[in-house]
Amino acid sequence: MKHPKNFYALFLSVVLLLGIISGNAQITAIKAGKLVEPETGTTLPNQIILIEKGKIKAVGAGLPIPKEAGVIDLTGATVLPGLFDCHSHLCQMTFPNNRDLFTTDIKQSTAFRAIIGVKTAKEMLEAGFTTVRDVGNNGNYADTSLRNAVEQGLVPGPTIINAGRIIGPFGGQYHLRPDRVELGAPEYLFADTRDEMLKAVRENIHFGALVIKIVVDDQKYIYSADDIKFIVEEAGKAGAKVAAHCMTEKGARNAIEGGVASVEHGFQMSDEALRLAKQKNVLLVGTDFTEKAAGYLGLDEKTALLFHKIFLDRLKRAYKIGVPMAFGTDAFFDVPNETRGTLAISYLDSYTEAEIPAKYILQMLTTNAANLVGVEKQRGAIKAGMFADIIATPENPLDNINTLKKVSFVMKNGKVIR
Ligand SMILES: [Zn+2]
Repeated sequence: MKHPKNFYALFLSVVLLLGIISGNAQITAIKAGKLVEPETGTTLPNQIILIEKGKIKAVGAGLPIPKEAGVIDLTGATVLPGLFDCHSHLCQMTFPNNRDLFTTDIKQSTAFRAIIGVKTAKEMLEAGFTTVRDVGNNGNYADTSLRNAVEQGLVPGPTIINAGRIIGPFGGQYHLRPDRVELGAPEYLFADTRDEMLKAVRENIHFGALVIKIVVDDQKYIYSADDIKFIVEEAGKAGAKVAAHCMTEKGARNAIEGGVASVEHGFQMSDEALRLAKQKNVLLVGTDFTEKAAGYLGLDEKTALLFHKIFLDRLKRAYKIGVPMAFGTDAFFDVPNETRGTLAISYLDSYTEAEIPAKYILQMLTTNAANLVGVEKQRGAIKAGMFADIIATPENPLDNINTLKKVSFVMKNGKVIR
């Protein structure tokens, strides 16, 4: 005799059984033909990586693979940790018909900016970037919403360490009209006095910033070393580091003396400023635009080439002096036939052009970046206890760094993305 109660009981048992089965099958084993450890620049053959609950359980040669494990065969590939972009703008995008940032920023609503972020976050992840430090220009906290959506599994994307709104002296990075000063918001939090700086940091942290981004020197009044020290201390109370956009020599020096975690851009830095950065262990996130990428800034061909040459010269000097560097792109443009991810990895061209060794480029993309972002105990290496952020390439990037443009496998937090 049929009874609805029996039907539900049966249904529940099946669900429970499926749950138990899938629970047992939660171990994943990756067979890695080659495993690259960026920190040491070594390659290990035939490694097994065991993954459980999103984290790496064990790594080694000849590890026994549990019977119930799902096996991913990457014996024909090189396996390495997921990549980092330490200077992303996921929710910002200029289009070919208008490369001007000010008009683009004010025309696009925060809702539209969030939709841009959904697209770029997915594209970054698919290209192999499993972590980004996103340094502002996201409307009214579209970045915090995007991070929450990714963390809740609503949309795919890298782990995001976001900056919320950028803090800077009056004007931020704009040249405002006196009758429309409000157009500087929500992109920037103007903070000139100590009270305003304190308020800006606290407000930004409250609305979800995990890192503080300051613009040091885009106006006539620039932040002093003491101003920056004050901001660094205030941010530090909430566990946030400070990234400093510096376009001038003086700005970079103030930022280094003020104790920031990283100088962004630093295109004008002298050898002396670079030495100071090295001495104080301040990382340089050079955002070293390729000639092509410089063109997307809205520059004409001649100026783009000139800028690229300046960037390249600083990059070569920085490497020679030994400033610790992390990879960052500053990509905020829509480009035909490129995703945000393929565009980001194309910045490799600047590093190969500057003849930086593959091992160091790889460290910029992983180890150094993880240290800067503050996730070095969780991400940036394939070791037991760390999150399973793993990618694979057809060739060994230590032999041919350009193989990173052809990432064939991406896993984030133990989940296969592609
Ligand atoms: Zn930027």
